[in-house]
Amino acid sequence: MSFHVLLSQLAEIIAAGSVNLSDDLLAAPVAGITTDTRTLKAGEVFVALRGEKFDGHEFVETALRKGAIAVITDYKMPGAIPQLHVKDTLTAYQAIARWWRSQFKIPVIGITGSCGKTTTKELVSAVLSSTKGNIHKTLFNYNNEIGVPKTLLEMSPIHDYAVIEMAMRAKGEIALLTQIACPTIGVITNVGTAHIGRLGSKEAIAQAKCELLAEMPSSSIAVLNHDDRRLMETAAGVWQGQTITYGLEGGDVRGELIDNETLLVAGMRLPLPLPGRHNASNFLAALAVAKILQVDWTPFKAGLAVNLPSGRAQRYNLPNDVVILDETYNAGLESMLAALQLLAETPGKRHIAVLGTMKELGEQSPEFHFAVGEAARKLNLDGLLILVDDKEAEAIALGAAPLPAECFTTHQAIVDRLKEMVEESDRILFKASHSVALDRVVNQFRAEF
Ligand code: ATP
Ligand code: MG
Repeated sequence: MSFHVLLSQLAEIIAAGSVNLSDDLLAAPVAGITTDTRTLKAGEVFVALRGEKFDGHEFVETALRKGAIAVITDYKMPGAIPQLHVKDTLTAYQAIARWWRSQFKIPVIGITGSCGKTTTKELVSAVLSSTKGNIHKTLFNYNNEIGVPKTLLEMSPIHDYAVIEMAMRAKGEIALLTQIACPTIGVITNVGTAHIGRLGSKEAIAQAKCELLAEMPSSSIAVLNHDDRRLMETAAGVWQGQTITYGLEGGDVRGELIDNETLLVAGMRLPLPLPGRHNASNFLAALAVAKILQVDWTPFKAGLAVNLPSGRAQRYNLPNDVVILDETYNAGLESMLAALQLLAETPGKRHIAVLGTMKELGEQSPEFHFAVGEAARKLNLDGLLILVDDKEAEAIALGAAPLPAECFTTHQAIVDRLKEMVEESDRILFKASHSVALDRVVNQFRAEF
């Protein structure tokens, strides 16, 4: 991080009271801001955040021992600790990130939506990389009230673009992240049912996503999924600024899937960088961003290399032409339906889905699991194995009937069954919420195959 600020300026940015700070120290440059003593470097300022499991104030001594020049605390800690002391350390951390972000005049692309944020972030980054520009992007899934500031604080003058993933669990969170990240382009991929347990309705989820539009500067440009009617309607109520829409059904950047591998858009045939209709939609979002930033699409005719973090659109080719589609990173209703569709469209002999619970879906959870089962039946899958770690998953089997579904209670039991049933040219999809850890089944099956 090439952070340029003096400790005294930092104190002003966060309106901090100072304790044990000499004039010399106040005039010293801050090498960086960190919340993690494990990666802290000498000269940095340590922010003591309070989390559910940890209280950063307990790590203040370690931070100083590792060379922190001062710490940001929410109470006056006793002793000779050099402190900037504020009411709320997270708010201070976010204020520093917002200030640092404001030092840059580059395009900042903020991406939110119920599914496909990380995928779209990677697609946007890949598309922008064709300019040979330097892309700064969210790492891993650092997309929340701590991850977004962390990402922004790692912006440096070498960067030409920043691509920031923004996630929410509740109302107000996207508004806050937008104020901090101040995107010049705001992308909303879709409105689904993730976190509906907390938000109550799809309408409320749409409103929460559209906080991105409501809070971004009026000179910014919105990139919206035309095919998501609820999103478009809600967006129209809060955003009057410049907008580019994209979609497979319509929109300013409209794509048509001519087979499962090629997208026809604005007269160009572009190979799909990632499989499935949902990823065609994510790719169109990236093309819309490219259009705004006047990035030439021609190079994409030769294909675009995109590396997604594990468990998303991952394909493993096993011996005997057996193919695994690993979507174990996470699952909600819409992404389950998208993945089942992808499975059904993957040419092969038999199509088998190994599914588990979709978590955090609130009251409608049984209904949504039932709908996943129904989709499996309608797609006429050849096999359905379900890991039942709680009774919600059983509803998948109910929805699938009369398609036979086999239920298991352990990861190993599924691996054993798969080994027994697998045949040449089978296509096998794995998908469940992250905490179900279906990736363990994938790894075990691959190891024992
Ligand atoms: P998170 O909220 O966990 O950060 P995310 O929004 O970043 O998730 P991704 O990690 O990109 O989403 O994708 C997660 C899964 O969602 C993928 O494995 C895929 O199955 C599905 N998915 C991706 N894009 C879409 C889309 N546009 N519509 C429906 N499902 C999608
Ligand atoms: Mg993500």
